Amino acid sequence: MSTPSQPLRQPGLIVYLCGLGTSALALWLVQIANDNGENIMGWYANGIIPAGAFIVGVGSGVGYAVGSRLLQVKLSLAFVFGMITTAVVDYFAAHYLTYLSIIELHHIPADRYGFIDYFREITEGMSFKSKSSGEAGSPLGMWGYFYKLLEICGYAGGAMVPSMMVFGMPYCKGCQQYLKKHRTGYLHAPEQWSVVKKLKKKERLAALQASIKDLIVRANEFTKPIAAAPLAETEAALATLDQTIHKDAAARITYTLKKCPRCDAHHLDLNLFNYTEDKKVANSTVATIDKTKVADGVAA
Ligand SMILES: [Zn+2]
Repeated sequence: MSTPSQPLRQPGLIVYLCGLGTSALALWLVQIANDNGENIMGWYANGIIPAGAFIVGVGSGVGYAVGSRLLQVKLSLAFVFGMITTAVVDYFAAHYLTYLSIIELHHIPADRYGFIDYFREITEGMSFKSKSSGEAGSPLGMWGYFYKLLEICGYAGGAMVPSMMVFGMPYCKGCQQYLKKHRTGYLHAPEQWSVVKKLKKKERLAALQASIKDLIVRANEFTKPIAAAPLAETEAALATLDQTIHKDAAARITYTLKKCPRCDAHHLDLNLFNYTEDKKVANSTVATIDKTKVADGVAA
């Protein structure tokens, strides 16, 4: 009989506070840069991608990710999406604090110059610096709102990135622990890159394709018997693989076994590394076998 697992811990208040902490820090640094004449939020790549806001967002979101990882809290998808709202609130809160500091500095009564007035002014008055002269261009007017919206989306999107990365990490629900890397093994293609490299491009492509195809067939044969096997059997099988990387192999599949620190729940990741006909390297995930559910009954 499997023991009923304990209810999942909700993303704790501490995780949330960690996120708010890094958000405040990131937005504070933006403010310092602003005071020194550098508007990080206004950095655009290709004139339209809000790269600066995105980077600031990633910095803001680090606290949620690190907090949940260290405290072994599994983030729910709802929490990750809930962060969009928090990020938008943080964004306006940061502007509001700037507004407060401006009216205080100039002793302006708030009823004469409200936050809306301030936001309209910075939005409609926004302009891009000319790349050649470094001088400010003409104000964007209504287009400013479009760019502010891009900025907010970039910031909120960036804030989600660190959490999305932790969200994708394998997790044992029974023990409420993130899995840890436990063992690796390599399956190599017999073809040597130093030989294949010398072929003409067309032949090189054909050789690589054949090599990868064979390797995947072998990987499937190897994986099938252990796909649902218990941990000990899976470990023993991985021990029969190559334990070091053969650098000259045209392709290889890396088996990574990740295990729960408390029980036998584990994950098996298959990753393909190969050279390409353009003499570059490529990495791709072939399969992920989640065996955390198989081991649930064994969990303490
Ligand atoms: Zn476990």
